[in-house]
Amino acid sequence: MSSSSNEPTGLIEKLKVPLNTSTGDDTEAGNYFVANYPPFSFWSPDNKDAVHDVLNSPRPDDTNLGVYFHIPFCRKRCHFCYFRVYTDKNANEINAYLDAGIKEFERYSRTSYLAGRKPQFVYFGGGTPSYLSVNQLKDLTDRMKDLFPWDETEEVAFECEPGTLTEKKLEALREIGVTRLSLGIENFDDHILEVNGRAHRSKEAFRALGFAKSLGFDQVNIDLIAGMMDETPENWQKCVETAIEQDPDCVTIYQMEIPYNTTIYKEMQESGRVTAPVADWPTKRAWVDWAFDQFENNGYTVSSAYTVVKNPEQTKFVYRDSLWEGADLLSAGVASFGHFGGVHYQNQADVGPYMTAVDSGDLPIFRAYPTSHDERFIREFVLQLKLGHTRPGYFIEKYGEDPLKRFPAELQKLVDDGYFSVSPEEITVSRDGMLQIDRLLHGFFLDEHRDARYT
Ligand code: SF4
Repeated sequence: MSSSSNEPTGLIEKLKVPLNTSTGDDTEAGNYFVANYPPFSFWSPDNKDAVHDVLNSPRPDDTNLGVYFHIPFCRKRCHFCYFRVYTDKNANEINAYLDAGIKEFERYSRTSYLAGRKPQFVYFGGGTPSYLSVNQLKDLTDRMKDLFPWDETEEVAFECEPGTLTEKKLEALREIGVTRLSLGIENFDDHILEVNGRAHRSKEAFRALGFAKSLGFDQVNIDLIAGMMDETPENWQKCVETAIEQDPDCVTIYQMEIPYNTTIYKEMQESGRVTAPVADWPTKRAWVDWAFDQFENNGYTVSSAYTVVKNPEQTKFVYRDSLWEGADLLSAGVASFGHFGGVHYQNQADVGPYMTAVDSGDLPIFRAYPTSHDERFIREFVLQLKLGHTRPGYFIEKYGEDPLKRFPAELQKLVDDGYFSVSPEEITVSRDGMLQIDRLLHGFFLDEHRDARYT
C-alpha cells in the first residue's frame, strides 16, 4: 500500500536540516483543517445502530441528497498524504472493489430513507478517481445511475491526478456527465513535485488543462498547496502567476499541514524533529494572502477561505454548499464519510475489512456519531464561517437559535482581534481571519470537543 520505496533520495537528509527557526508558529505534526463537527475522534463503532435507525425511517421531504464514492487508488503515495491509498492493486482487484461499492449502493437504495431519492450532487473523491480506466468509469457510473438517477443532479464533481488523464478519458468523463473537474496540480514546479512525492509533473498538468478546456467542462478547478517542502517565495510567485495564466474557473489553495499518518511525519519521528520541514504558518498565510490579491487583480473573487472563482454567479460548488447546509450524504467506498438525518458515519478504513463486510451482506460502516440538535447547529455555523460570511437569520429560522446570543463572548473576541465583524444581518470574516479560519473555529466547539484531534 505505502510506497516508501518511491521516496527520492535525500529526503531524510532534508528533514535533518532546520528550514525554519522556532517561533511558536512552526508547522508541527497534526491536523489543522476542520472538515466536520464533532471531531472524528468522537465517532464510535458503538453508534452504528443509529445509522440503521435513520435508514429505516421515512424519507425526508426537505433534505437534499448527495452521493459520494471513494476511489482509494493512486499511482504513488505523496509524502504529505494522510489518506488510506493503495498503489499496488491490479485491474481485477479494482473491479472487485467497484463491484463492492455498487453492492453498497444497492443496499442503500432499498432502505425506506433513501429509496426513490435522486441526488442533487455527486462527488468522486479519493485517492485518485481518474486512476480508473474508461471502461471502469463508464460501467461504474452506469450502475450508479441505475440505482440513484442523475437526471436531477446539478453537479457531478470528479477529482483527477493530471498524470492519469488522456484526452480519451476526459471525453469519457464529459460524456458520463461530469460538470466539475478538479485537477490536483498542487504546484507547477517539477522539483517541488518530485521532492513532495507527487506522481505527476508540470508537463502532464499543462496537457490535462489543455484537454479539459477544449472539451468544455462547466467548471475546471485546480488545487494548489502553499508551503510544500522546498517551496520558496520565488517559486510560490511563479506558481500563482502560472495558475492565473492557465485561466481556470476556480482555484483551491490549501496551506500545507503534516498530519500524523504521513511519510513526512514518519521521517520527522525518525530524525527526532518536531518542526516539519515546510514553511511556518505566518509564511503560509502571507503566501495565500498574496495569491488571493493576485487572483483578485485578475478578476477572480475570493469565495471561501480556500477558493477563488472567476464568475461567482456561475461557478458554484454545490457539494460544499449543500453539505454545509445539512444535506444528507450517501457515501460509499473504503474509509468514506457520510451523513444521514443527523447521524455521521464512516466506513471501514481498510480495504480488507471493507470487502469482508460487503461480502457478508452488511453495510461496511466502521463508526458513527448521532449528533444532537445543538451539535448540528454548531456544525453548520462553523462550516459556513469558512465561506467568509453567514447570516444569523439562517440559524434562527432553522435551529431557533441566534449565534449572536449563543456566542457573544467568542464573537466579541474575534471582532476585537480584527478577524470578524458582526451585525444582526451578517457575520463577516476579514481576510486575516479567513487565512487562519480553521484555528479560530475551535472557540465555537462544545467544551469537550475543543482539543480533539481531527483524525
Ligand atoms: S494523489 Fe492525493 S490521495 Fe493520492 S497519494 Fe497523493 S495526496 Fe494522497
